[in-house]
Amino acid sequence: MPLTTPSSDSSQRFLFDHADVRGEIVRLNKSYLETIAGKQYPEQVAILLGQFLAGSALLSSTIKFDGRLVLQARSEGEVAVMMGECNSEGDLRGIARYAETPSSDQFTELLRDGSLVITIDSRKGEPYQGIVPIEGSNLAQCLESYFQQSEQLGSVFYFAANKNSVAALMLQQMPAQLVKDKEARAQHWEHYSTLARTLTDEELLSLPNADILHRLYHQEELRVFAPKQLQFACSCSRERTARALTALGKDEIDEIVAEQGGIEISCEFCATEYNFGPGELALLIEGAEEGTAH
Ligand SMILES: [Zn+2]
Repeated sequence: MPLTTPSSDSSQRFLFDHADVRGEIVRLNKSYLETIAGKQYPEQVAILLGQFLAGSALLSSTIKFDGRLVLQARSEGEVAVMMGECNSEGDLRGIARYAETPSSDQFTELLRDGSLVITIDSRKGEPYQGIVPIEGSNLAQCLESYFQQSEQLGSVFYFAANKNSVAALMLQQMPAQLVKDKEARAQHWEHYSTLARTLTDEELLSLPNADILHRLYHQEELRVFAPKQLQFACSCSRERTARALTALGKDEIDEIVAEQGGIEISCEFCATEYNFGPGELALLIEGAEEGTAH
């Protein structure tokens, strides 16, 4: 068995020919390393963040949309916020926020009393948001119960991650089309999902997708689609940062300028630094005030 890690950052879909079941395999290497670069995340936080990134890519593959999907956890536990984001171009970014270095490596402690929030921010139309309490002992179980509750569809999520890469598999029931008989449909799902659960972390992380699918489903007829490329990319810009700054209001901006001579802001996701001098800030405030006056 070759143990070379597949290196591309990608999302690849597969469909069963004779059952209403689809699947997706996501693999992150470079995009994951770029997301955690320079952040000094403790290992368990980085690995969980990797899972959220891969989760956002898996979920975004299940819908046709033009925009971004955000998979976020807010909790009372050691990690207050954990989020992974994937847009329709395959751009990924993510972040974890916590006050002190977490002492636990347990999902239930890191995200204790938390909620899982899935936001679909479409460039056209209204945003959609689904929220469920965090249940289960890992992200996979949490997502499975989300789909059971919200769509009444069976799903299997499987995440494997280490310091360098993340791999994830999703298997999901689709609405009945090929197989209308309820019993046959349930049997199919039982069969495919049971096989998916036999996968090991090592296999998911190290085997090429074709070998994984052969290993699990060599007796089934499958259609495998071309992989979609994923990459780390941040949507921040000088203009957006300036807009966010004006929300502070004139008084607060004046105060910071008096103390520091200007304002320096770095993006939480990609660490790009944006500097605003006093002249530019004065123009921004003027612009914002005119905007509210008319
Ligand atoms: Zn950024």
